[in-house]
Amino acid sequence: MIKPDAVADGNMGAILKMIEEAGFKIIAMKYTRLSAELAGKFYAVHSERPFYGELVEYMSSGPIVAAILEKDNAVADFRTLIGATNPAEAAEGTIRKLYAKSIGENAVHGSDSDENAAIEGNFFFSEFERF
Ligand code: ATP
Ligand code: MG
Repeated sequence: MIKPDAVADGNMGAILKMIEEAGFKIIAMKYTRLSAELAGKFYAVHSERPFYGELVEYMSSGPIVAAILEKDNAVADFRTLIGATNPAEAAEGTIRKLYAKSIGENAVHGSDSDENAAIEGNFFFSEFERF
């Protein structure tokens, strides 16, 4: 997902270019906005964390780009491309190093396992929206 801060800052195209140049195939893509309810559902795993309210507010604050990406070793390679959660700790050349504002407003989301990638893909896309 390209998060609301990166969309608002006009970095959508630059981030998609980095994703394609890194060898990911875009299987599905959608420009949409999450309600607070849906953002809360998407990040339900963090519901007990102190930053959950802030996270839900931020993720529903403006439009996002959701996508399903395909590549060998996609989960690990995408996390390498995006960099650490906190941009202050993200490696040079990563999406978060280049475009994230803070640990909260950090430009992109990446799935943390194949299992969660499948769940998150189903959250956004029907079978007819995948190519
Ligand atoms: P994501 O799941 O969005 O790809 P991540 O896996 O790197 O990020 P998580 O630990 O899953 O990090 O946290 C989910 C999101 O919650 C972060 O990307 C960030 O937007 C927000 N977040 C995490 N830690 C904090 C924090 N300490 N303060 C504020 N927001 C935070
Ligand atoms: Mg995560």
